[in-house]
Amino acid sequence: CGIVAYVGQREACPIILKGLKRLEYRGYDSAGVALLSDGNLNVFKKKGKVADLETHIGEQNTSSHIGIGHTRWATHGEPNDANAHPHYSSSKKIAIIHNGIIENYAALKQHLINKGYEFHSDTDSEVFVNLIEDIRENNNVSLAEAVRLALHEVVGAYAIVVISHDSPSQLVAARKGSPLVIGIGQGEYFLASDATPIIEYTNEVVYLNDFEIAVIRDGHLDIRTKEDVAQTPYIQKLELEL
Ligand code: GLU
Repeated sequence: CGIVAYVGQREACPIILKGLKRLEYRGYDSAGVALLSDGNLNVFKKKGKVADLETHIGEQNTSSHIGIGHTRWATHGEPNDANAHPHYSSSKKIAIIHNGIIENYAALKQHLINKGYEFHSDTDSEVFVNLIEDIRENNNVSLAEAVRLALHEVVGAYAIVVISHDSPSQLVAARKGSPLVIGIGQGEYFLASDATPIIEYTNEVVYLNDFEIAVIRDGHLDIRTKEDVAQTPYIQKLELEL
């Protein structure tokens, strides 16, 4: 239901948790974050409110400058800890947050199970992240290219953000049918379902269009279509009141 992601110089976790609280008005049943630090990709997730997630995280180390966070409104699989986002891929190398519904997830899931993939949730979203991993491994392509190719396989609606353990400063996002806004700060980037988590940090935003992929890597934003055509980001100035 709600997406927040961050990459930059600041501590990612507090920014993401605060952003998720700003999206609470959308309604949700679970919340979670994935944080990447020194090649370690750690997922914290919990059924309930963002406050319950904070209690669950407690005193654990969340130090990181890149991460993704999600509030879930369950469509596939009951609200519980396992079905909360982010979801790891089988190898735990990649994590995803997803808003929306993957309509052909059952067929994709069976195909991946036949190839040896293991699933730990009942969600359509976990299928998406394993599909990305499978494409990446089979074709030996970049994370961004694997996401792009995966978009040609999935049917449905989505806003996604993925991170990978071997890409310490990279966020890959895509959308079709579910909103996604990119906030551009000074050497930092924010992604969210709407601008409310972003406006306290920057008023420069790019609204991602359907079938576009945004890659934030080493401080640069690159947007291309799912046909791999580079797009010039259209930067808008927000004039919203805090
Ligand atoms: N379909 C996904 C799920 O059930 C995402 C739901 C959402 O948009 O929050 O986990």
